[in-house]
Amino acid sequence: MNGLQQWSLVVAVVMGLLLMTCRQEPGQELHLNHGPVASDPESDAGTLRPEFTAVDPDRLEEYYRLLLNFSPRPAASARLEELRVRLQEILEGWSLAVTCEPFEVLSDRGKLRMVNLIAEKKGRTAELIYLGSHVDTKTMPGFEVIGANDSTSSTAALLELARIVADRPTRCTYRFAFFDGEEALGEHMTYSDGLYGSRHHAQRLLAEGRVLDVRAFILLDMIGDRDLRITRDTHSSPELWSLFVSCCNRLGYTEIVGDQEMAVLDDHIPFRELGIPAVDIIDFEYGPGNSLWHTPADVPENVSVESIRRVTEAVRCMLTHLENE
Ligand SMILES: [Zn+2]
Repeated sequence: MNGLQQWSLVVAVVMGLLLMTCRQEPGQELHLNHGPVASDPESDAGTLRPEFTAVDPDRLEEYYRLLLNFSPRPAASARLEELRVRLQEILEGWSLAVTCEPFEVLSDRGKLRMVNLIAEKKGRTAELIYLGSHVDTKTMPGFEVIGANDSTSSTAALLELARIVADRPTRCTYRFAFFDGEEALGEHMTYSDGLYGSRHHAQRLLAEGRVLDVRAFILLDMIGDRDLRITRDTHSSPELWSLFVSCCNRLGYTEIVGDQEMAVLDDHIPFRELGIPAVDIIDFEYGPGNSLWHTPADVPENVSVESIRRVTEAVRCMLTHLENE
């Protein structure tokens, strides 16, 4: 019997009964106000209205460094709790409505309390667009995983996208999902170990009766590799993958679309299972043969903020398209 089989896990779903806040202590001050917005250099071949401003590389880097200060941050750790408080402050500073979704996971380590953070920006219509990233980092036996790529890169991108979207009136309603518990508690992810936060939120969405309102679910994960090649995930919706590829082409980032194709188990799966159009934007080859993934080598030296910026820009292009369709 391997270690995984010893895990006996039951997710205790706490559906909105605990009206608690993530907030504890005010964190350190950071320059996160809306500054003057840069004009959009890539806009526009004339076909789309440039609704969203370009990604600000300095802010993106600032968010990335901020998140690194809270690394590593496994699910149910004090540092992850501290980060959630900080994220809530930042998101509310942009006038987003932040909901904390606490839930419990029973493991052979006992009851683990996890919390999703969902920030919403209301648009003119009920049509929903989700942007998601997990926030927890991996725990491995015997060594620490900083998670500079997994999950710091995608969480930084999610923050910058939240800032950009919060800055403009939109047609669609946006939800920025900062998921807890993506990583398996055992060494490897299985269908019963991992994706705790996204599974919890998908059930809430179902209970809310909003599944059919979701136009797109765009998941970001591991987008900071210096040698960035986004994997074609066969679980993702072909239409949203095509939109991502056409945005990369349009922006001149053709080299970041890789030719590796595989089925990736990630936080988009619970939403795909509900029939929601979803795409996982992930480079599942972090270092040669994915050799840096879930290792002590997942450090800032192996991450490029420019890679994160390119993916964030491509997603901004996708949002412009979805807003205008
Ligand atoms: Zn991971």
